[in-house]
Amino acid sequence: MTRTPRRVMWFRRDLRLTDLPALAEAADDGAEVVPLFVADPRLIDPSVRSRYLARSLSALDQQLGGALLVRWGDPRQVVPAVAAEAGATSVHISADFAPYGRQRDEAVARALTADGRTLVPLGSPYAIAPGRVTKSDGTPYRVYTPFYRAWSAHGWRDPAGNSGDGVRWRALPGDKAASVAARVEAAAGPEPLDGLPAAGELAALARWRDFRTRGLADYNENRNRPDLSGTSGLSAHLRFGEIHPRTLLAELDDSNGAEAYRREIAFREFYADVLWHHPHSARASLDSRYDTAMPHDTGPHADAAFEAWCAGRTGYPFVDAGMRQLLAEGWIHNRVRMVVASFLVKDLHLPWWLGARWFMARLRDGDLASNAAGWQWTAGCGTDASPYHRIFNPTSQGQKFDPDGDYLRRYLPELRDLPGRAAHEPWLHPLLAPDYPERIVDHAVERLGALDRLRIMKVAAASGGRPVRS
Ligand SMILES: Cc1cc2nc3c(=O)[nH]c(=O)nc-3n(C[C@H](O)[C@H](O)[C@H](O)COP(=O)(O)OP(=O)(O)OC[C@H]3O[C@@H](n4cnc5c(N)ncnc54)[C@H](O)[C@@H]3O)c2cc1C
Repeated sequence: MTRTPRRVMWFRRDLRLTDLPALAEAADDGAEVVPLFVADPRLIDPSVRSRYLARSLSALDQQLGGALLVRWGDPRQVVPAVAAEAGATSVHISADFAPYGRQRDEAVARALTADGRTLVPLGSPYAIAPGRVTKSDGTPYRVYTPFYRAWSAHGWRDPAGNSGDGVRWRALPGDKAASVAARVEAAAGPEPLDGLPAAGELAALARWRDFRTRGLADYNENRNRPDLSGTSGLSAHLRFGEIHPRTLLAELDDSNGAEAYRREIAFREFYADVLWHHPHSARASLDSRYDTAMPHDTGPHADAAFEAWCAGRTGYPFVDAGMRQLLAEGWIHNRVRMVVASFLVKDLHLPWWLGARWFMARLRDGDLASNAAGWQWTAGCGTDASPYHRIFNPTSQGQKFDPDGDYLRRYLPELRDLPGRAAHEPWLHPLLAPDYPERIVDHAVERLGALDRLRIMKVAAASGGRPVRS
């Protein structure tokens, strides 16, 4: 009698059961499948992202009827050990394209091979895997719009038709998903986090269906309005692979809203492609002059400014509302992300990576590729960056995209008595907002200071030297 094949499905950024090619392959031929998540202590911390992950794992475990095996440790040792314990011939994964994940998977593959087993990557967190869309000469795109055209022309597969139905899950003894939640919550302490949404595949699908029915048609008009729920709110679901972009793309038609939404999905794919080709861009400016020759502020004054930015106490309401939304919910609206990032770099004259690090530690959708590229776009130093001299005015941006001040009052209780758009300029009504902080800088002055620094950087970079203040 032949033995039933047994395989391991190693879940990482694909915490779902439907439209998951790696799972379809693992379960082929009626094989028994051991569902594994490796809790790598280096990646599990008290952050909101880890909190979200813990909830997502619990949701997956529920879908699996409690069969999800959680093992703590370094995947390079844990995965081969679990495969051996299970008597599995292969370990199945969706490929990871970020720098750490690539190295880890290469090491795991080597260790499995040495033991007579295989690591089988199939599928990725993207509609088109990073590195696949190139110019005709094989070089990568550096500008989004031509990338988008080539990405659209390349096309993507239909959703994989599989679901977890019929899979013969095999539970091994070990820790459960709840162990991740327990460890994260213990480390996070009593700090409340009100705005964390439901996690998991079923929550992701429900949110997508709700957005498709109620938000997609007006997405193009509303997506820049933080006062309206005009965006899909799917970023954390996508970050953890609770839903695949292919599932979304398959349901988009040619309407304005759908086209605008497809373009945003393509931004995520473009930035993953940029990181794939330029792994160092996770932490360093693609335009290296911004790291070597741009004068940044340092010292106690700069430290105090950074602290005020982090706490949402700059005195600029649109910036402060965004930063407090981040603290409360682990998420910020895209328009506001651009404005707070611009403020840090061009009004406070601090390096973008300081803000990127703060974001990564606090965003529930924190994604190395999108975060680093979003920051570098704003700072003017990435591929296809916004020109440095395009400097967001935090007040007029707020007035334009939150015309009645509703977004501000939601996160800044000090402004509750300032009606309508008056909330954007509390300094004009000091008696109605006595507890709101004074502006820490004057935007008009700092804007000129930023342009001055740009000139200094160009001169210093051209002469190969360090920045010298004029
Ligand atoms: C400074 C800065 C940092 C950012 N950091 C992250 C991050 O760590 N993780 C992250 O997922 N997004 C990041 N973004 C992009 C964007 O702000 C979020 O994806 C978006 O706000 C998520 O909300 P949503 O799901 O409602 O978006 P929707 O408007 O509904 O868009 C749908 C999906 O498209 C993708 N998307 C939309 N806009 C962008 C964009 N500009 N860049 C890349 N993908 C996009 C996201 O996956 C998003 O979920 C950052 C942007 C900036 C300016």
